[in-house]
Amino acid sequence: MFFIRLKIILLSIIILSGFSFFLLYKLDSYVKNQAVSILSSQLSSITDFIFDTTHIVDNAPVHNLALLDTIKNQSNMKDLWISRNDKLSDELGKQKTSLRDVIERKTYVTRIEEHALTKIDNTNNQDARISVPINTNESCLTCHTGLKVGDVAGSVNARFTINDSIMAIYDTMKVELMGIILIASIILMIVMMFSVNSFTKLVYSMKIAIQSAIEGNFSIRIKSQGIGIFSEATKLANKLLEVLDKSITSIDKKIATIFIYKKNLYSKNPLIRITELIAELTNLFLFKNKIETARANKEVYRELQAVISKYIKYRYMIFAEIINNEIVSGYKLEGETEMKISTGDVRGIEKRLENPNPNILFNDEKGCLFISTSIEQLNVIDLKIFISQDIVLYYSIMMNSKKELLEKENSISRIYNYIREARPIIKNIILVKNIEEASYSDPLTKAYNRLYLEKYALSAESKLQKHINFGVLMLDIDHFKKVNDTYGHAVGDAGIVLLTETVKKCIKPTDKLFRYGGEEFVVILEGYDIDETQRIAEKIRNMFAMAKRCSLMELNFQKSVSIGMSAMPDFSRNVWECINQADLALYEAKETGRNKVVKYSLKLKLKDEQKKAKEAQAMQNPTNSNEIDVENDDEAAFLESLKLNR
Ligand code: GH3
Ligand code: MG
Ligand code: MG
Repeated sequence: MFFIRLKIILLSIIILSGFSFFLLYKLDSYVKNQAVSILSSQLSSITDFIFDTTHIVDNAPVHNLALLDTIKNQSNMKDLWISRNDKLSDELGKQKTSLRDVIERKTYVTRIEEHALTKIDNTNNQDARISVPINTNESCLTCHTGLKVGDVAGSVNARFTINDSIMAIYDTMKVELMGIILIASIILMIVMMFSVNSFTKLVYSMKIAIQSAIEGNFSIRIKSQGIGIFSEATKLANKLLEVLDKSITSIDKKIATIFIYKKNLYSKNPLIRITELIAELTNLFLFKNKIETARANKEVYRELQAVISKYIKYRYMIFAEIINNEIVSGYKLEGETEMKISTGDVRGIEKRLENPNPNILFNDEKGCLFISTSIEQLNVIDLKIFISQDIVLYYSIMMNSKKELLEKENSISRIYNYIREARPIIKNIILVKNIEEASYSDPLTKAYNRLYLEKYALSAESKLQKHINFGVLMLDIDHFKKVNDTYGHAVGDAGIVLLTETVKKCIKPTDKLFRYGGEEFVVILEGYDIDETQRIAEKIRNMFAMAKRCSLMELNFQKSVSIGMSAMPDFSRNVWECINQADLALYEAKETGRNKVVKYSLKLKLKDEQKKAKEAQAMQNPTNSNEIDVENDDEAAFLESLKLNR
């Protein structure tokens, strides 16, 4: 501010002094010229008077030069001389006069009075030099026959010093002028200061407000108002600053409620920080969108993995999903290479998490814990995410050095935001999976129910298009009614459970066991041909016959299961048709002695068709139909065995 004012004062002084010097210079030459003019006209009139008077009074050819002395005696007269033209000199028999200077010569040519300011040698002072011509008239010719009317007969020349009084006037004028200029300068300066001052104040205040805003402080306002358009502009600028200030504070507060962040990770300027935060929120939103469509938790774990990789450059990383204290899935990632993890890796993480003095980087109330450990060659951030009562995730991020570890500890808050979004989704996936399992499974045996069979049938048929074989088994416990009758329903239930546990031991995780009816089960074996299917069926039959105990109780009676089997696409490309074929084969197994595996064949189909035709005929002629009392030797033998085992 001070410097701006100083600059204005200096500028005014420079402009005004220049102007004053110019005026003084002009005044100096003007006054002097005026003085010379006055002297010149004086001299001219005196000269005229001398000649005119002589002529009128005496009518004689002699000039009264005495009058010239009156001029000569003037105090400021330096020199006075008269010159003649050459004709007159000849006529008078006198020596020719030489003309002294340009002014004198000029008078002879112009025939009028000439005057000028002439410099005195080696000084800055000036003289007034005047030449007045003596022009020949009629009366002159009476004496001077050699002359003609109009000739310049001679000239009267004078040199005056510039009159002191003139100089005195000039000096007074100079002082007055200087005074006027000085007063004008002061007035001008005050006017300038006054008009410029408010403007400079405004600009200065504006500079401070804008500079603060650039540095991120929007609370400073422009103080000076200025006038007119400046005032309007100031008000608008202040309004803009206020809107920015309020909006930024409110956005900042709102973001802080949905997003956990450390301010030192972002720009100091709130406007830039908000832009950065919004960019991160967008990423978070996109991440959420992506994981919301995930059908399995593994997809979510992979996305989280990508987020960690984005924020932390690690040497290698370990991931483990622990369900009921068992590692369900996990991997070790080093560059692009993915390796299996060992229980030792997980134990290492758990040991560090159990450290009595952990370096906790972050710990939320829901069990998301980040700790960092730096010992010897180990620089690691361990992350434990508690998803539910029995599900825990571990991410263990190994860094190259302690320096890197310390640098990255701040990034934890960034990663945490993603975990916070992922956790409910992981939980939901588990929940949906549990609900699905409950709705698709039978509560007693935990085998899939018929509802799931309908769903699975569709996917199995589409898998057939990809040339995947399926084996289909239909199982039914032999003489089960008798078991119920003999031992009661609880034992019967245990018998059913024993069969499912036996089947589960014989099939792989991709194969499916369905409870089809009371003690009837369907097994669909994926990727098996008919021979392999038969091998599995035999295995089930044998194991069931031998089994003595299920998860519910001891079962020490004789038991057997009959199995009918078919295969896709060998006998059909339709799951339900294939199940019917297996059912037909099961019927055959029952018919032909039980405790056996029967493969579906066309022969069985024909036999079934004949049977159905016979039954239809019997329905039409009920009188011809014979009561068929199927004596079953097999049944008698079974009853006998039950008695034995009691
Ligand atoms: P077969 O050898 O011909 O199959 O003779 P079976 O006695 O086993 O005859 P069937 O398969 O028709 O008998 C089914 C019986 O299974 C009828 C019912 O009492 C019994 N059952 C069905 N569901 C359950 C169950 O959930 N628990 C128990 N304990 N018994 C069941
Ligand atoms: Mg049965
Ligand atoms: Mg049955």
